[in-house]
Amino acid sequence: MSRTDLPRPKPGVMDIAAYVPGRETAHGVAKVYKLSSNESPLGPSPAVTEAFAARNVDLATYPDGSAHELRQAISRAHGLNPGNILCGNGSDELLGLLCQTYLAPGDEGLFTQHGFLVYKIQILAAGATPVSVPDTDLTANVDAILDAVTRKTRMVFLANPNNPTGTYLPVSEVRRLHAGLPKDVILVLDAAYAEYVRRNDYEAGIELVSANSNVVMTRTFSKIHGLAGLRIGWMYAHEAIIDACNRVRGPFNVNALAIIAGAAAIGDRAHVERAVEHNEAWLGRVCDALEALGLTVTPSVGNFVLIHFPKTAGRTAAEADEFLTARGYILRRVAGYGLPDALRMTIGSEEANLGVIDALKDFMA
Ligand SMILES: *Cc1c(COP(=O)(O)O)cnc(C)c1O
Repeated sequence: MSRTDLPRPKPGVMDIAAYVPGRETAHGVAKVYKLSSNESPLGPSPAVTEAFAARNVDLATYPDGSAHELRQAISRAHGLNPGNILCGNGSDELLGLLCQTYLAPGDEGLFTQHGFLVYKIQILAAGATPVSVPDTDLTANVDAILDAVTRKTRMVFLANPNNPTGTYLPVSEVRRLHAGLPKDVILVLDAAYAEYVRRNDYEAGIELVSANSNVVMTRTFSKIHGLAGLRIGWMYAHEAIIDACNRVRGPFNVNALAIIAGAAAIGDRAHVERAVEHNEAWLGRVCDALEALGLTVTPSVGNFVLIHFPKTAGRTAAEADEFLTARGYILRRVAGYGLPDALRMTIGSEEANLGVIDALKDFMA
């Protein structure tokens, strides 16, 4: 059978470059340190295990389709109205749901040059047109984004902080971006790393959502809460957006264990604080050590750091990746993000961080 006889996906689908997740393993090494997907070295709160033990989950029964318990727990933790919260199978699902709900063929979705790859994928999957906007110094440029807005623009995605660069926009810039957008364009603030940011000019977007009907903030349990395996995300938005997305989403998109785990995790502020402190302590140490080796790192406010390698043979990012992998340290290649000369490293356990530094010392020697 020739290719043309096969069922044809709708326009846009075959333009998608499938998302390649951070690698999980390396072969022939005693111990593998996965520093490729920004997961938490602390893992989930002990309250999650306790909640599983205390609850007799009936796996034969569908979960609560409204994820009421989880939305209540999120609303308590953040002081939000549960009616403005929608939970998803990871925030990735919510990004797709927003595109499916608001983008049609002919519409344009904007995202930044080195932004998270899921935006482009989901814009294409909705049949709409992806528009990449140039960054300045690996940071979103508000003027460039506003310049790229056309009559066809329906949605603007901003990861803040951004993955994989680790850079962020202060709240004044996010407000200026919102103020420059037409009222019928949705600004999606992907705040997957919000908890890690310790800057007094940063806000995740709660106030902007509360005051406006065209801003959505998405959050995840995959990073600071250490629950990537359960797939839990949530978004905060105006009731009209929640209502529209609720019509499109799968009726039981968040599973029963995820609801229990998420509710327990978000109530354990001390665990979140421990994760922030671990990151604070190691982010600076790792960056200093890498710079001492002659490498350039982009200042990061997240739980990961972008490391830039020279283009000289023997010192390139691709070679560093092979070298590290052979020792069991899995970092993330980010060529797909337009960064062929860099690797992204998640801040891991003490052992993992020191191991990478040691290995790179040998690599650069
Ligand atoms: C990790 C990450 C997410 C989270 O995705 P989940 O589907 O919730 O695991 C979202 N946005 C960005 C920018 C990320 O790096």
